[in-house]
Amino acid sequence: MNINNIYIQDISALLDNILNINILRADVLDPVVSGNKWFKLQFYVRDAIAAGKTTLATFGGPYSNHIIATAKYGANMGLNTVGFIRGEKPTTLSPTLTDAIQHGMTLHFVSREDFERKEKIISHNQDPNWAWIPEGGYGITGAEGAKSMLTIKDTSSYDTIICAVGTGTMMAGLIKAAAPHQKIIGLSVLKNNISIDAAIKALLTEDEVNKSFEIIHDYHFGGYAKLTPALIDFMNDCYNKMELPLDFVYTAKLMYGAQNLATKGKFEPSSKILVIHSGGLQGNRSFKKGTLTF
Ligand SMILES: *Cc1c(COP(=O)(O)O)cnc(C)c1O
Repeated sequence: MNINNIYIQDISALLDNILNINILRADVLDPVVSGNKWFKLQFYVRDAIAAGKTTLATFGGPYSNHIIATAKYGANMGLNTVGFIRGEKPTTLSPTLTDAIQHGMTLHFVSREDFERKEKIISHNQDPNWAWIPEGGYGITGAEGAKSMLTIKDTSSYDTIICAVGTGTMMAGLIKAAAPHQKIIGLSVLKNNISIDAAIKALLTEDEVNKSFEIIHDYHFGGYAKLTPALIDFMNDCYNKMELPLDFVYTAKLMYGAQNLATKGKFEPSSKILVIHSGGLQGNRSFKKGTLTF
């Protein structure tokens, strides 16, 4: 895991070079602690260690990038990890959960109903040695960590920065880090998730709320982790054309949306666009072999 591996790739070919569009390859940080997850976790982990905690406890679904990232990053930092997983224990564990166990994470499966009552899970599992991290790393601590995604490389020349939005923690961090001439555009991967606007604003100060940003809801492809054959074709095209691997939950919808917005004239011809590759490639293991060309 080396943040110096992160680089900026020119992907103007995506738009037949009519626009200047680059991508921040945060996915290359680590195949598992990928992209934004390390950034969002960094201060939770720092604070846990400073408080003398021995264990990180968090929540996620069976394919969660956040769960596997917490398992591996925690192990690297010498911490125990506990994951509360949405849904009953399946007969065959997902590759994500199998890997999480391999990294030493203890898993507890909770019904979908109970999973929605996180406060109850926390109060039933009180342990002074545990540091709780919200699902997806959502919180100001997560957003503060995500700020450094924009400072790891010189990103000052870009006027438009586009990212995928799940919990909105990364987007809040990018808004915090943005310079006055920069606009942050977030593409929501959840269907009709209108509460995301308030969730992001809750992580911002009064000044930051007045910065330039926009959330777009048109590129969820049917909802969270849903996909269409066209999206798979698009993923293969991006790889074949630019050696750009994308995940189907977040970054494929992000790239598709960025391309589609560009063709609809959303951006000035002179604009310099930076797309954030936030990682998540481990999730592609849920595809049948041969579906993707990479
Ligand atoms: C988790 C994740 C996101 C969403 O980040 P939020 O901070 O929850 O909005 C985006 N892209 C990838 C690849 C992710 O794994």
